[in-house]
Amino acid sequence: MSTHTIDVSGRLRDYMLDVGVREPAILAELREATQSHEMARMQISPEQGQLMQMLVRMMGAKNCIEVGTFTGYSALAVALALPDGGRLVACDVSTDYTDIGLPFWDKAGVADKIDLRIAPATETLDAMIGAGEGGVYDFAFIDADKPAYPDYFERCLALLRPGGVLGFDNVFMQGNVADPETSSENAIAMRAFNAMLKDDARVDISMIPIGDGLTLARKV
Ligand code: CA
Repeated sequence: MSTHTIDVSGRLRDYMLDVGVREPAILAELREATQSHEMARMQISPEQGQLMQMLVRMMGAKNCIEVGTFTGYSALAVALALPDGGRLVACDVSTDYTDIGLPFWDKAGVADKIDLRIAPATETLDAMIGAGEGGVYDFAFIDADKPAYPDYFERCLALLRPGGVLGFDNVFMQGNVADPETSSENAIAMRAFNAMLKDDARVDISMIPIGDGLTLARKV
């Protein structure tokens, strides 16, 4: 029994990865292909990818959104969990990173489920709202530029159906959100976002200490 979340690091995290995570080979291959990249830390952890797959399956999600695709690990994880006919609108501003993931999406046989939109995500999301897609999405994962999280939140909330779920990545910012002395603009922006979300009655929230912190927000 425990009244608090224990520190999962060192050999305990190794143990968790060993017996608690079934990372499909294709995801492991993409993770390894991303490893040498200078921005590799932007990739989500395997246990988080598995949690997102579990969510997609539990919700019976068919229509998903991702804001911030990077090399496509989380997009691949979600696409693998989608049923036939399911689709993921993946937003990013550059193909520099997404090009790394494309061959893996192909190899996994899910490339047709991923609708990659290269443009500022606010423009893509506004266009989707303008096209009458409000209220039709089940799940949205936000993992892009931190100061714009409030913009992505409002748009994705409009696109979600009631009961749909938003996932916000990096809500801990390596722990800097809890450091009053931090000078990190991203951490300060995230702290403001976390506080805003806490008081937003339009969503139920759960802040999960996985990876760099993942907040789930369910549209009521
Ligand atoms: Ca992230």
